[in-house]
Amino acid sequence: MSAPTRSHFVRDARGALADTKLRAALLNIKTMFRNGRARQVAAVPEFEELRDAGAALKREVIDNLDAYLARFAAEAESRGAKVHFCADAKDARETIAAICREQGAKLVTKGKSMVTEEIGLNPYLVEQGFTPVETDLGEYIIQLRDEPPSHIIAPAVHVKKEQVAETFRAAHAELPPERDLSTHDALLAEARAELRARFLSADVGITGANMLVAETGQMVLVTNEGNGDLTQTLPKCHVIVASIEKLVPSLDDAATVLRLLGRSATGQHASSYTTLSVGTRREGEVDGPETCHVVLVDNGRSAMLGTPFEDMLRCIRCGACINHCPVFVNVGGHAYGAVYVGPMGSVLTPLLRGLESSAELPFACTMCGRCAEVCPMEIPLPDLLRRLRFEAHDHAYTSKTSRLGLAVWTFLGERPKLMRLAARLGGAMMRLPGAGALRRWPLAGAWTAARDLPVPEGGGFVARANAKNGD
Ligand code: SF4
Repeated sequence: MSAPTRSHFVRDARGALADTKLRAALLNIKTMFRNGRARQVAAVPEFEELRDAGAALKREVIDNLDAYLARFAAEAESRGAKVHFCADAKDARETIAAICREQGAKLVTKGKSMVTEEIGLNPYLVEQGFTPVETDLGEYIIQLRDEPPSHIIAPAVHVKKEQVAETFRAAHAELPPERDLSTHDALLAEARAELRARFLSADVGITGANMLVAETGQMVLVTNEGNGDLTQTLPKCHVIVASIEKLVPSLDDAATVLRLLGRSATGQHASSYTTLSVGTRREGEVDGPETCHVVLVDNGRSAMLGTPFEDMLRCIRCGACINHCPVFVNVGGHAYGAVYVGPMGSVLTPLLRGLESSAELPFACTMCGRCAEVCPMEIPLPDLLRRLRFEAHDHAYTSKTSRLGLAVWTFLGERPKLMRLAARLGGAMMRLPGAGALRRWPLAGAWTAARDLPVPEGGGFVARANAKNGD
């Protein structure tokens, strides 16, 4: 993950808010994903028990990660896979490139995988002389547009249909320029035809994994397009790239997570394709790879174990917290300057990339708490964001103004008489004619730039409380 400058979020969010095409595209999140989830959850009376079970099984994995990793590796290798443990992004990139080289590969097809975005795989493969082609439609669109994904389950959610048509016209220059690309069906048909040829000629197929099953060595892959299946079965070599926390203990546990995943992610009771596979093609089988590699990526995750942030390792990348975040649905994913966006990204990015270069992200939150309510893994996202805010403040990664404001607040909070005096003075100032419309109140400029402060009614909070108690 590349590190943006510290001031990127506010600047980029402002730009996003002014982008009317982007705002219109982001409406899809509200209408499709949120409403779909609400319908699906209402149809499962035991959804809360499912959440408890999902969170408990992931806690079990995190508490015994070494043992489950070892079991998974042994089972997968006994079925023909080769498992690689990679400590960081560089290690993972080099391992994958070495596999491609060993295969004499030129064309590499790829299923959607956030961890490959995290480790910067595509630019590295290009640098090494390979041609990676994304096969998930959204990923394909943003690859052609040379943009990062803006959502973990809908990477091109920020792009309107008309923009996709422009992109296809530029990229598929060999096709007749007068062709009709005005409908979703036409765009889909063109992408399908372009990608079909790549599926058939790829030397290596790279996919992520939604889960890795420790007891069987299997990987579970969930897609809505079937591209993951073509990517893993057609080339002679399949490379699975997954972060180490993707484990579940058993197939029964995988079934529990699957019941949560589709409903939370896209509002489907199940995604269109759920594929379980393990190892290489066996005798008598008609398809499947001749070689199979599993690249397990740590990249900062084991450092989260035993810390207050290890809860984040339960994340199944469903995107529900993102879809319900009032900040994300207004600014989109690119403002975050990171692969992981929204509430989960505002926790994960500082943990993986370092807080100093991401210190704004935990503050990109209204603390409404909706993310924690919808998270199928019961991750206490607001608590984790608050903890990161404390750390950012303690390390002086926050602005001087906010530190000064908090210092003044603390000073007054420890001196109740002074606090009451300051509150009275503040209240009196706010009652001055025209004060509510002042645009730049000290330390409150971000709020008062866009709204007037209401004139206080009656006495302050303490005076009211005292009056109520008869003091
Ligand atoms: S934090 Fe929870 S809601 Fe957000 S992507 Fe992860 S599992 Fe889904």
